[in-house]
Amino acid sequence: MPDHVSQPRLLLRRLHSVMAGSGKPQDRLDRVVRVIAQNMVAEVCSIYLARAGSVLELFATEGLKEEAVHLTRLSVGEGLVGLVAERGLPLNLSEAPQHPRFAYRPETGEDIYHSFLGVPILRTGRVVGVLVVQNVAPRRYKPEEVEALQTISMVIAELVASGELVDKRELTEDSGSTGEPITLDGLALAGGVGAGVAVFHQPQVRITRTVADDIDEERTRLEDAIAEMRLQLEQMLEHPDLAHGGEHREVLETYRMFAYDQGWQEKMRDAVMSGLTAEAAVDRVQQENRMRMAKIRDPYLRERISDFDDLAVRLIRIIQGDTSSHRAKLTEDSVLVARTLGPAELMDYDRKYLKAIVLEEGSSTSHVTIIARAMGIAMIGRVTGLLTHVEPGEPVVVDSASGHAYVRPADDVLESYKANLKLQEQLLAEYAAERDLAAETLDGEKITLLMNAGLLVDLPSLDSTGAEGIGLFRTEFQFMVAPALPRVDEQTRVYAAAIEAAGDRPVVFRTLDIGGDKPVPFLPRDEEENPAMGWRAIRIALDRPALLRYQLRALLYAAAGRTLHVMFPMIAEVAELKRCKSILNKELLRLKKYDKEPPTEVKVGCMLEVPSLAWQMDLLVKEVDFLSIGTNDLMQFFFACDRSNPRLANRYDLLAPPVLSFLHGIVQTCHKAGVPVTLCGEMGGRPIEAMALVALGLRRLSISPTSVGPVKRMIRSLNLKALEGFVTSNISSAEHSIRDKLIHFARDHDIKL
Ligand code: PEP
Ligand code: MG
Repeated sequence: MPDHVSQPRLLLRRLHSVMAGSGKPQDRLDRVVRVIAQNMVAEVCSIYLARAGSVLELFATEGLKEEAVHLTRLSVGEGLVGLVAERGLPLNLSEAPQHPRFAYRPETGEDIYHSFLGVPILRTGRVVGVLVVQNVAPRRYKPEEVEALQTISMVIAELVASGELVDKRELTEDSGSTGEPITLDGLALAGGVGAGVAVFHQPQVRITRTVADDIDEERTRLEDAIAEMRLQLEQMLEHPDLAHGGEHREVLETYRMFAYDQGWQEKMRDAVMSGLTAEAAVDRVQQENRMRMAKIRDPYLRERISDFDDLAVRLIRIIQGDTSSHRAKLTEDSVLVARTLGPAELMDYDRKYLKAIVLEEGSSTSHVTIIARAMGIAMIGRVTGLLTHVEPGEPVVVDSASGHAYVRPADDVLESYKANLKLQEQLLAEYAAERDLAAETLDGEKITLLMNAGLLVDLPSLDSTGAEGIGLFRTEFQFMVAPALPRVDEQTRVYAAAIEAAGDRPVVFRTLDIGGDKPVPFLPRDEEENPAMGWRAIRIALDRPALLRYQLRALLYAAAGRTLHVMFPMIAEVAELKRCKSILNKELLRLKKYDKEPPTEVKVGCMLEVPSLAWQMDLLVKEVDFLSIGTNDLMQFFFACDRSNPRLANRYDLLAPPVLSFLHGIVQTCHKAGVPVTLCGEMGGRPIEAMALVALGLRRLSISPTSVGPVKRMIRSLNLKALEGFVTSNISSAEHSIRDKLIHFARDHDIKL
């Protein structure tokens, strides 16, 4: 094992003394790359620094040709170094020249080096450079080596921030604000409209000292800060706004749970032991969390892990003695502008003046979104380049319905904003008035509206939306955020709480859908070409049956004396389902053997999200008590179209005739066999799609909590008989989509979309 891995403290100290030593900044940087190359047993070590924000210049190298220094320049995104800067993530390659992004620069002479490890040099969340090591022999660097290089990069960031190498002005991005009205596009996260002056949320913290002088002292600083952070969260939970419970209180409870996470604390303690200061240790672990996050494509899970980000910033502030609150800052109607925002950070603002939120990141299932919804604050996310287009103090109007943020809006926009505000108030009042009414069509057809959930924080939505149960409980999240495999009793606790909160309403638990784009820390896997079609979900469960057995055991314990609904994800053939059922039977026998109370009834279902299964429908309906169509996955396989590829997002329409006739066939078979069928993909939550689905015979939809109101409103305005004939007569047409026809139909028949 290279020296630095066992002795990281020594290396950090050495680097620190080189950087703080005498001599010109360039000479010190040259010494730094030599020390790193030596310690990493690397033939090359190079440092590229960002100039004027978007060009990466080779500033120092050990191993590449000297004449390339200050000559080789790459744009962000260009070559492997540019790729590291673009993604802000490490890149570890055993055969760098074969990588499609490899850009050969003859002046460097780097073509003889096969292996490449590059890590970003990050400063307050921004990439200010890239640190690279290379070796002639092809090899993949070990995780400890990647970690060590990341730790080293933090020390280099300290040198960059001093402004001795690159002028400090080059380190801050220019504002692209033009003074003209502009419209920014984003993703609607929390409904509504809101307007005010732009206030920049500044979660970033500056770390000025990375290498510890006294490890014991740093440990104490860390422990004290953790205790203080917990105290702050406890006080936040005492806040009068939260006194009556409800959704956002639940969110903060979960958030508090994260603050007590042992794995997180252990990692921070380890980082201090490796020689970092308390604040650098927190930052280091946060960077690692971000890396984990970046690998997860599911936005729902991503955002939950990002709560740690929020806590980390809070912790660093406490360590550095910054106790300022944002609350006092809002003095007039304001729109909060940020790259990302944590749920507790949002709670820090005065809601009286907080009218809307615009984020560069964010997702529809993040905690901060749930809180914003609970507080009735309009929010849009995924606004590219947001921070460069707005200046603090400028007027902004946010309209979630269109996903637009109008910066420095013109008068006509302001007029339409006022009209929208009125409409929004009317709609919310309508949803609330219909909450306890049945989702029944005008001609008396009852539709069951269930909701999708994944964590205990989602449960209060059952009451607030009037959903009739949970049609899909995604169990994987508990596994994703845990540093180690959750024990059976920990799993049981979560499942029992969900069943308890639902009362008489059903909760359908789906067994783990991990792997693919939902990696878990305790299950190492190989990189996969096509993770969505890879070793995931039931495939992992059947190859590692202990995992499934423990989960089924926890579910059976949690449902003692009640009905258990359990279903299996990504089943591709009936034989697979049978194997799952036999594992379940073993667990039922085990219950008997140990004389534990069983559920009164166990209903077994299956997700239909792999097309092959649709060709075994006759066999399938004999094996299940219920079926759930997961269109998110099913449709990506149906069209051979990656669901997370933004380029393909609008390529195919789910209101296309082949989709509708395919679903129609599945639903018919289920009805004939008397097997209840639910659709639990996102499409069911959009009123126009939901309208087509009920016309195809679907009577059960499991949708996101926020969709319950709009879908119910559509159903209650619908005359099903007329629509059924219209849809079935159109499903064999050769059109790309029948969306427009359906919109016209809805308009002609006063259906509320
Ligand atoms: C689906 O695939 O439709 C589904 C509901 O599962 P997930 O989105 O969790 O993959
Ligand atoms: Mg799925």
